Amino acid sequence: MSTTGSHRVAARMIAVAGAVSLLVACSDNGGGGSGTGGDAAGYPQQNITFVVPFSAGGPTDTVTRMIADPMAKKLGGKIVVQNVEGAGGTVGAGEVARAEPDGYTVLMHHIGMSTAPALYADLGYKPLEDFEMVGLVTEVPMTVVARKDFEPATLQDLVTYVKANSGKVTLANAGIGAASHLCGLLFQSAAGVKLQEVPYEGTGPALTDLVGGQVDFMCDQTTNTSGQISAGKVKAYAVTTPERVKSLPDLPTTAESGMPQLQVSVWHGLYVPKGTPPEIVTKLTDALKAALADQGVIDQMAKLGTAPVPAEDATPDAHRAKLDEQIQTWGKIIADAGVKAS
Ligand code: ASP
Repeated sequence: MSTTGSHRVAARMIAVAGAVSLLVACSDNGGGGSGTGGDAAGYPQQNITFVVPFSAGGPTDTVTRMIADPMAKKLGGKIVVQNVEGAGGTVGAGEVARAEPDGYTVLMHHIGMSTAPALYADLGYKPLEDFEMVGLVTEVPMTVVARKDFEPATLQDLVTYVKANSGKVTLANAGIGAASHLCGLLFQSAAGVKLQEVPYEGTGPALTDLVGGQVDFMCDQTTNTSGQISAGKVKAYAVTTPERVKSLPDLPTTAESGMPQLQVSVWHGLYVPKGTPPEIVTKLTDALKAALADQGVIDQMAKLGTAPVPAEDATPDAHRAKLDEQIQTWGKIIADAGVKAS
């Protein structure tokens, strides 16, 4: 890594958790501003804020923007996307848990919702108890990618290389409990190494640094890496799902590459604070279903290596069951690995 690169990475490492940036506004006729909502029959009567707990421009942000417009259209309102980054997604999730349960603050989160309880001693919210689930959205494969000029050519070469150079190889992630962190943990455990991890507030900026050569490698969703892989701006080793991804047909799976233990699918879901009126949750679920059936959304997702969940999974019950199962699954893996956030 160059000296400038070291400085940039150091700057990222001390970036303040919880920085907030306001991003996208989309669609339609909704009234502006704040105020209190909660009138289920007339919902929505003001802007709805979708909180993304990671940086703008990253994969969670991308999926949120994709569905925000068609959801706003179905709801007959306006959706604003707000990035509330920090601590592997737990800052944004905590903010939504504490928000007014009126349907005007919605969280888009991913697999990190299920890993946080095992990692953070004082999370400040309970994923299963402090939210109403709106529905699942999509399940996105991850890719193992490196800076373009990184020496190893294959996943097996990468293992050999990191074993020999563990002190100097850098592995980027989006904070403890993020999907990239989990994938990195699984990689290190399969390879039997401990690497220097470089936390960002989302993998949008991490990928920018990877393309710029400031960090060596990382895992990230295809919704962020597909474009850079296809353009040859990063080196891609493998995809972390049992099957290859249609949009990246030449990229082998981790199992094909001799690392079957490295399997992660990044499932996403929408949440509202506990106590949100059921009629409002139903309106949001219906809007989510409409967005996931939208041909434009289906096409954009396919281009980025993913697909909407089946309609029966875009429901509160399927979402709750998934979260419950994943909290058990990841809780055990994390406990076995002995990893903690502090
Ligand atoms: N891909 C990120 C993660 O590792 C999050 C993001 O920036 O969307 O969890």
